[in-house]
Amino acid sequence: MRLIPLALGFALLLAPLAGITAPAGFQAQLEHADAIRSADPVAFARALDALDARLDEADTGQRQHLQLLHAYQKAFQGDFESAVTLARRLYAEAQDPEVKLRSSLLIANSAAATRSFALGLSHLEQALAATGAADADPRLREQALAVATILYNQFNKFELSRQYADQLIATTAEPRTRCVARQQRLTALRGLGTWPSDPREVDEALAGCEAIGEQVFVSFIRIEMARHLADIGRPDAAEALLSEHLDEAEAAGYARLVSEFRSLLAGYRLEEGDLGNARTLAREALEIDADSSASLPKVEALEVLYRVAQRQGDLPAALDYYRQYAQADKAYLDDVMVRELAFQQSRNEVQQKDQAIALLSKQNQVLKLEQEVARKSAQNTRLIVLLLAVVLAAIAYWAYKIKRMQTRFRILSQTDGLTGIFNRRHFRSEAEALLKECEASGRNAALVLLDLDNFKHINDQHGHAAGDWVLKQVADACHAACREGDLCGRLGGEEFGILSCGADGEAADRIANRCRELLAAIDTGLIHHHHPITASFGCTTTVVSGHAFEMLFAHADEAMYLAKNSGRDQVRAHVVRAEGDPATRAVPV
Ligand code: GH3
Ligand code: MG
Ligand code: MG
Repeated sequence: MRLIPLALGFALLLAPLAGITAPAGFQAQLEHADAIRSADPVAFARALDALDARLDEADTGQRQHLQLLHAYQKAFQGDFESAVTLARRLYAEAQDPEVKLRSSLLIANSAAATRSFALGLSHLEQALAATGAADADPRLREQALAVATILYNQFNKFELSRQYADQLIATTAEPRTRCVARQQRLTALRGLGTWPSDPREVDEALAGCEAIGEQVFVSFIRIEMARHLADIGRPDAAEALLSEHLDEAEAAGYARLVSEFRSLLAGYRLEEGDLGNARTLAREALEIDADSSASLPKVEALEVLYRVAQRQGDLPAALDYYRQYAQADKAYLDDVMVRELAFQQSRNEVQQKDQAIALLSKQNQVLKLEQEVARKSAQNTRLIVLLLAVVLAAIAYWAYKIKRMQTRFRILSQTDGLTGIFNRRHFRSEAEALLKECEASGRNAALVLLDLDNFKHINDQHGHAAGDWVLKQVADACHAACREGDLCGRLGGEEFGILSCGADGEAADRIANRCRELLAAIDTGLIHHHHPITASFGCTTTVVSGHAFEMLFAHADEAMYLAKNSGRDQVRAHVVRAEGDPATRAVPV
C-alpha cells in the first residue's frame, strides 16, 4: 500500500460549489472566497482576512461557512491536524447540512494524514449516506464518491474503491474528477489483480490526466503500470517505463511520488544486477522520504540497500540496512493493520447500526401490530358491549311489552268491556277474598244487587247504543255510591253488585238508596228518554246470610226479585225468621 497524494486528493474538495452568485456584501465575499479557494490560494487567503475583519456582520450560518473555508485553507497548507480539529467542531455545531457534509468530507479526506482512520471512515460513511439521497447536491455527491475511492484504496479495500471509482466515472463530466477516478480505478484493479487486459483503458486514463496537465496523477498511473509489468515478470519494461518518465515525475514536484519512482527503479536495477545504480536510487528515495516512518517506498528502498550490501559482501552494512528494513517493514505492516482494524471497526459499527435499525423497525412493527390488536380487541369489546346492550334493550323492551300485554289482558279479563268496572267472574273472586278477610277480622259485610227496571224499553225505543250509554252512567253511579274499599261490578246485562266490607244492614241500605238517587239524577234527556232511570235493589249482610258468597248472593238476588215484583224502583233487604228458619223474606226498607 502506498499513500495517495493527499493534498491533491484534497484539492477535489476545493472545487467550487455550483450555483454561486455574487450578491453584494458579506455573503457575496464569502461565496467569492469559496469559489476561488483552490484556483488562487493567495487571493483566497486575502479574502479570508477581509472576511475575518468583517466578522461582526456575519450571522451564525455565515460564520460557520467562513470557518469551513479556514479549515480548507489549513488542509491546503498541509496542516491537516488543525483542519480536522476545525472540521470536527464545525460538524458538531453546524446546523446547515451542507456545512456538516463538507466538514465530514474534509475529516474523511484527512484521515490518512492525521492517522485518524476510524474517524475518517465513519465520516465517509455518513457523507456517502447523506449524498446517496435522490435529492442530494450532485457536486457534493461527486466529492463524496471521490473521497471514498481514494480512502478505500488507502485501506487496501480495492473492491470498494473500484465500485466508487466506477460510480464517479459514470456520473462526472468534470475532467479533473474523471482523471482522479480513473487513476484510483487502476490502483484498485491492480490491487485486485484484475489489471485491464485492454491497454487502451490505461492509455485513456493517462491521456485524460495529461490533457489537463495533472502530471502527478499521470505519474501515479505509470507507477501502477510499472508494478503491473513487474508482477507479470517484465521488470525490464517496468524499469524502462519509469526511467523514461522520471524527469516528468520530478517536475511534478511531489516528493512522495519521486521517492516511489526511485525506490521502484532501485528494485528493478537490483534485479538486473546493476548494484551501483540500485544503491544510488534507493538512497535518493530514502532521502526524499526521510520523514515518513511507515511508507512502502521506504521499506522497498531499505530492502534494496540491504540486498546490495549483502551481494557486495558488506555484511555489517547489510545487517544495519536489514535492521532498518525490518523496522520500517514492521512499522508499515503495523500501519496496514491499524487501517484494517479501523476498517473492520467501522464495518462493525455500520453493521451494528444496521442491525439496531432493523431491530428497531421490527420492534416498531411488533408495536404497531400490538396496537392494531389492541385497537381491534377494543373495537370487538365495544361491539360486544353494544350487542349486549342491544340484546338487553330488546329483552327489556319485550319484557315491558309482555308485562303491558299481560296487564292489559289481566285488566281485560277482569273488567267489563263496556263500563270498565269488574266483570262478574272477577267480582266474584274478589268478593270471596274480601269476605274471607272480613270473616277473619270479625267484621260484617253487605251485598247490594240491582237490576235496571224496564231497560229493554230503552234499547227498544232509543237503540242499543243509547242502552250502552245508560249502562255506563249506571256503572259510574254504582261506583260513586261505593265507599272506599268497596267492590263494584257488572254481574249481568243490566245487573250490578256492590260488596261493602264493614257494612251492616243500615249501611247497605244507605248505599242502595244513594245509588238509587244517583240513577235518578242521570240526565236521560241526552238520549231523548224522558223517564228517570230506576232499578230494583236487593240487599243482604253477612249477619243474616253468612260469609259465603253463594249464600250472600242468593239472598241478595232474592231480595232484589222481591223489589222487582213489588213494583220496581225500591230497595229490599233479606231478613231471617226469628226461630232460625232457613226460609227468608225480603222486607221493604
Ligand atoms: P225488568 O224491569 O223486568 O228487569 O225488565 P227489563 O226490560 O229490564 O228486563 P229484561 O230481562 O226483559 O231485558 C233486559 C234487557 O237488557 C235485554 C237485553 O237486550 C238488554 N241488555 C242486556 N245486556 C245489554 C247490553 O250490554 N247493552 C244493551 N244496550 N242492552 C243490553
Ligand atoms: Mg235483568
Ligand atoms: Mg231489568
